[in-house]
Amino acid sequence: MLIWLHSRMSAQIDVRLEALASGAAAPQVSSGMSARAPAAETSRTFYLETFGCQMNVHDSEKVAGVLSSRGYRQVDSSENAALVLFNTCSIREKAAQKVFSRLGQYKAGQDGGRIIGVLGCVAQQEGEEIFERAPWVSLVCGSASYRKLPELLAALESGNRRVTGLDTDTDETFETEMTRRDHPFRAYLTIIEGCNKACSYCVVPYTRGPERSRASRAILEEVRRLADAGYSEVQLLGQTVNSYRDPSPRRMSFSELLAAVAGVPGIRRVRFTTSHPSDFGKDIVADIEAVPAICDHVHLPVQSGSTKILRAMQRTYTHEQYLEKIALIRAARRPISVTTDIIVGFPGESEQDFQETLTLLDEAQYDGAFSFKYSPRPNTPALTMSDPIPEEEKGRRLMIVQERQRQIQTMRNETLVGQSFEVLVDGQSRRANQWAGRSSSNRVVNFTSPRSNLLGEYIQVRVTRAGPNSLVGEHDI
Ligand code: SAM
Ligand code: SF4
Repeated sequence: MLIWLHSRMSAQIDVRLEALASGAAAPQVSSGMSARAPAAETSRTFYLETFGCQMNVHDSEKVAGVLSSRGYRQVDSSENAALVLFNTCSIREKAAQKVFSRLGQYKAGQDGGRIIGVLGCVAQQEGEEIFERAPWVSLVCGSASYRKLPELLAALESGNRRVTGLDTDTDETFETEMTRRDHPFRAYLTIIEGCNKACSYCVVPYTRGPERSRASRAILEEVRRLADAGYSEVQLLGQTVNSYRDPSPRRMSFSELLAAVAGVPGIRRVRFTTSHPSDFGKDIVADIEAVPAICDHVHLPVQSGSTKILRAMQRTYTHEQYLEKIALIRAARRPISVTTDIIVGFPGESEQDFQETLTLLDEAQYDGAFSFKYSPRPNTPALTMSDPIPEEEKGRRLMIVQERQRQIQTMRNETLVGQSFEVLVDGQSRRANQWAGRSSSNRVVNFTSPRSNLLGEYIQVRVTRAGPNSLVGEHDI
């Protein structure tokens, strides 16, 4: 599930560096740029703030890895940093605005001589125009160019005032030599970059470029290294993760890859997100049924319940075809939770269209949903569509969707009271004996246990209470 967040990555949390390519040597700075002698320790500090989805969080791990392997040290406040980086999101207008308002705090004269850099989707979308809007920025780099960051920084250190890395069609993003993973038990792993779909509201094909899948062998080697380093859960990432096409002669299908990742010794849980409904088939359901390590959760964004609006969104399926995918999942031998994304107020969405979205919520019975007001984005076909919906009406529809979904989740979660689930413990409350974790179905479970030191363990929890967004339980010893 894409969890939207805005994190100021802390340098205090568990840090692990993994060499992605064994024995990888530090690449040479490209010709024309001379690498300077290592500067004083303090000048090689960086602060990295992340906006957006899990793919951005993972991209930040790659950036932190690349910089750390070149002698940079991450700090948890921009005050103490020589280099301040923002890894940005432009999926909705508000997300992009947030970035510019953060940048505003570092106006020339107030930046204390720091190098300010913009990474990620806003960098890719706005390109060199960022220099116009925020002239104190000196580095603009999209996600496909992170490997080049040391070269770009060297160019700045050697006197260049502004540098950019804005390629979109390279597969280099997969193969950064070092990735610094910030979660101690769960590792993210991008298996497919970019997107070849053309949803009419979406900036991703522009900001992340065309689809590029990573070779299955490289993925499996990385999973083996992750397992050796102690990770027991891996989450395979992609904007349309199930559109994966193995570029190597092995030609592994996505479902074969899922099973192979789950088969790596030491891996106890495999998650994958986000799945596109048009590429979702029964082979994935069969995998989940057959392989316990593949988590019983599918994030399957529908966006709208109206076939008319789905067509205008260029989503490539109808209301009925989408429900057929849900039926496949619900027919599985073990229960599989399903979550989704919804957009309300797309241009031309009538009250009737909106009611069809509510009907779909009732039919699909989702275990969770992220819902958004449609946000017009640059370069997208929907930008010029007629019949925009007023902001106030979008807000009304959003509240109705969220309330309906809340009721559905409350009802569904209540049916789980009394059942016992395996939970990977990943949080500890300040209160004694209070813990938090996630079930295979990706539900948050808060629970009590007489035991201490449970972080990173898989334990059984019996559910005693349920709310719309989480379960409460007791360690089932
Ligand atoms: N690739 C995924 C898919 O096909 O559903 C989604 C990726 S997108 C980063 C995450 C979610 O943001 C989408 O599912 C959609 O609900 C929402 N989103 C994307 N563009 C949007 C826009 N212009 N306005 C509002 N929500 C948007
Ligand atoms: Fe955007 Fe559609 Fe691609 Fe998802 S499938 S990233 S919504 S274009």
